Amino acid sequence: VRRTATLILGGGPAGAAAAITLAHGGARPLLVERSRGEIDPLCGGFLSWRTLDRLAALGIDSRDLHQRAVTNVRVFAGDRLVEAPLPRPGLGVSRQTLDAKLIARARQVGAAVEQGVLVKEAEGTSARLRDGSLLSATHLLLATGKHELRGMARPASARHVDPAVGLRIRLPASSTLHRMVGSSVELHLLDRGYAGVVVQEDGATNICLAVRRSRLAEAGSPEALLAQWSEEAPRLGERLAWQDAGGAIQAVANVPYGWRASGTDAGVYRLGDQAAVIPSLAGEGIGIALATGASAARAILAGEAAVAWQRRTARLTRVPVTIASILWLLTERPWLARTFVLAASWSPSRIADLARLTRIRMLNVDAPRMSPHI
Ligand SMILES: Cc1cc2nc3c(=O)[nH]c(=O)nc-3n(C[C@H](O)[C@H](O)[C@H](O)COP(=O)(O)OP(=O)(O)OC[C@H]3O[C@@H](n4cnc5c(N)ncnc54)[C@H](O)[C@@H]3O)c2cc1C
Repeated sequence: VRRTATLILGGGPAGAAAAITLAHGGARPLLVERSRGEIDPLCGGFLSWRTLDRLAALGIDSRDLHQRAVTNVRVFAGDRLVEAPLPRPGLGVSRQTLDAKLIARARQVGAAVEQGVLVKEAEGTSARLRDGSLLSATHLLLATGKHELRGMARPASARHVDPAVGLRIRLPASSTLHRMVGSSVELHLLDRGYAGVVVQEDGATNICLAVRRSRLAEAGSPEALLAQWSEEAPRLGERLAWQDAGGAIQAVANVPYGWRASGTDAGVYRLGDQAAVIPSLAGEGIGIALATGASAARAILAGEAAVAWQRRTARLTRVPVTIASILWLLTERPWLARTFVLAASWSPSRIADLARLTRIRMLNVDAPRMSPHI
């Protein structure tokens, strides 16, 4: 049995933010991550202005991520379009780049990070690894994202009857596509789903879709679904036309949108998607991951018990997750989506209001930022 004071399971934004904050506060956490090299989860790659604030607070400068800001949001439904400025600029950044920067930062400030370590199951504050060995800790931070870990899985009630499936396509760099998408993040509202489009720092255009399983089953395959959606939504079709022949489509099943952890066990802090899963059209999942990671770390440093912290976090995530869930339900029905876009075009500033309402505030982390030099 290996013992450590604080053990973090998962090296995405939530786990890394916790590791950085703990190490910066003088603790020496151990973070274990199953990916050996690059971490590249399926994600839209849009970083909101609040997410950029949180990265700055962790010592990561957004100018090192992507030079060109995302200033506008465009919402398409059928033949309708509304465009509005974001409350403040965001960025399009690939998860390879973002997650690598966060892990490097965690190591820089003194966290122990072990990659290529798969956790098989957890019980209380101990974790069993694939090689059979046991890691035992005083505090366990569960940051495994959407994945269910044996012994700590979300309850059956978190599963939807018709759950969302996430799909991702990366379109190679093209000046025509860059002109088309420009400095906007686009949301194409579709029958039982949506597609988010943004240009990333490597020049690729990331198209991430969430679709109900029933809609994907009707189409028969991701390729057939994209062909149907390209017909139904010609503006999306214009972008998808730039896909490489045979280009890969990644998928993730059963995304538990709307779920929030209201309780936990003594010593176990649930972070990121293990704390709350905001529907992704809000573009705030990474922000919640960073906020909950840093906030749990501060709670540990201040001696706040896991159960009290989790309850507080469930309260703070309630409004943004509920509003985003209502938006997802409204906009996945084509006639309601068109009505929504028509109404928004009379007063585009309402879009910025909705964008603001779907951000999360964590009182103990909306605080002074760290110096990038430790
Ligand atoms: C379709 C879609 C589009 C999205 N688009 C956006 C967007 O544009 N902007 C935004 O802000 N958010 C977006 N999100 C949400 C965002 O991706 C997540 O909220 C965010 O990644 C959560 O961070 P996390 O650290 O909790 O989990 P993750 O990023 O999933 O990280 C979990 C880590 O744990 C590791 N891990 C898992 N299991 C184990 C194990 N057993 N042992 C060891 N390691 C393990 C994984 O390898 C991974 O590195 C999107 C989500 C979806 C589904």
